[in-house]
Amino acid sequence: MAEARTHVLVINCGSSSLKFSLFAGSDRAAMLSGLAENLGQTDSRLILKENDAKKTIMLDGGSHDAALRRLMAELQERGMLEAIGAVGHRIVHGGERFVKATRLDTEVLAEIDALSYLAPLHNPANVLGVKVAMEVLGWVPHVAVFDTSFHMTIPAAAHTYAIPKECRDAGVRRYGFHGTSHGFVAREAVELLSLAPKDHGLVIAHLGNGSSATAVLNGESVDTSMGLTPLEGLVMGTRSGDIDPGALFHMSRQDRLSIDDLDSLLNRKSGLLGLSGLSNDCRTLESAASEGHEGAILAMDVMIHRLARYIGGLATSLPRLDAVVFTGGIGENSAFVRAGTIARLAVLGITLDTDANDAMFGGRSGLISAADARPAAAVIATNEEWAIANEARPYIGRSA
Ligand code: AMP
Repeated sequence: MAEARTHVLVINCGSSSLKFSLFAGSDRAAMLSGLAENLGQTDSRLILKENDAKKTIMLDGGSHDAALRRLMAELQERGMLEAIGAVGHRIVHGGERFVKATRLDTEVLAEIDALSYLAPLHNPANVLGVKVAMEVLGWVPHVAVFDTSFHMTIPAAAHTYAIPKECRDAGVRRYGFHGTSHGFVAREAVELLSLAPKDHGLVIAHLGNGSSATAVLNGESVDTSMGLTPLEGLVMGTRSGDIDPGALFHMSRQDRLSIDDLDSLLNRKSGLLGLSGLSNDCRTLESAASEGHEGAILAMDVMIHRLARYIGGLATSLPRLDAVVFTGGIGENSAFVRAGTIARLAVLGITLDTDANDAMFGGRSGLISAADARPAAAVIATNEEWAIANEARPYIGRSA
């Protein structure tokens, strides 16, 4: 007899990769996770992680479809396929249309596809993943969870660019991203810091390969650092974050760079990589900086300066700041980045507990400021996949 359908499969599909996690019931740890990479290339492969074991399966040039079909076969072998009751899909851009997680059908999928002009690198790949998954797992409900939805509460003063009406009417505004992570961390912060759910203010810094900071008032996003695209704001692994738009005109005229050249320059060759000339990886740069590498020192300095500046600025979108919370690969693991940032936030009255800060890494959550200090500083490990699974779980049992 088939097991009860209590599992949720979470899928995050990129143009040549596909990440997945399988959650049983409401368990926070995925029972199986992994990724398919180099899809469509000769060395495409599927990597499965289960407990501490890792299994790599070559897909021989197979693409998304081959990866998902092979994943289904692996799940079936383990008796897990029958237990899947819903699939949650990470969708990067929901525009102004999608303010919450939405059950996927052909109409919704077409609407997401139509938003591709806002996220040409992401939405088409997300749509492809949904289509393939709906074919392969046709008997369960599929749910779209948007990076942008959490930010739809941002007021006009904070999301509007100072550009003419015709451009604003065409959808050019700040949307914000990493919403699933910011929302998850905001809810966890209420617990960790014993905050009143309807009376608190936070600034959350999600720092990873992509980074953004968000001001959260009583559980709702009221301001954020990313904009129309995930390029605005903080210094990231390979993305520049903020830059004077005039600098683009200058580089275009001076160096004859095309729009595509500039796109690639700011999205792929800038940030920590461009600053350091060494790496986009914060760990590598921390260690190089400690050995005196000038580019690495500059990269860390610029990243930390920009971050502190943004946290200070976002605090002004709140009536009161209860805490600054760090999350993401860098936020959860780099005591160096957190200490440097908090040192610059003395103006807000935030102080660091150095021992607590040094002990916070590897998925731990807790305070890194003195016990009763306000504003507090804390680290909260994010779990975007689980948050997506949570959004999809209520759909279990509804007809496909
Ligand atoms: P994410 O995109 O959230 O997976 O974060 C990736 C970033 O986290 C990379 O820049 C990593 O170098 C960084 N990271 C992971 N572990 C550490 C660590 N122990 N110290 C500093 N940075 C880290």
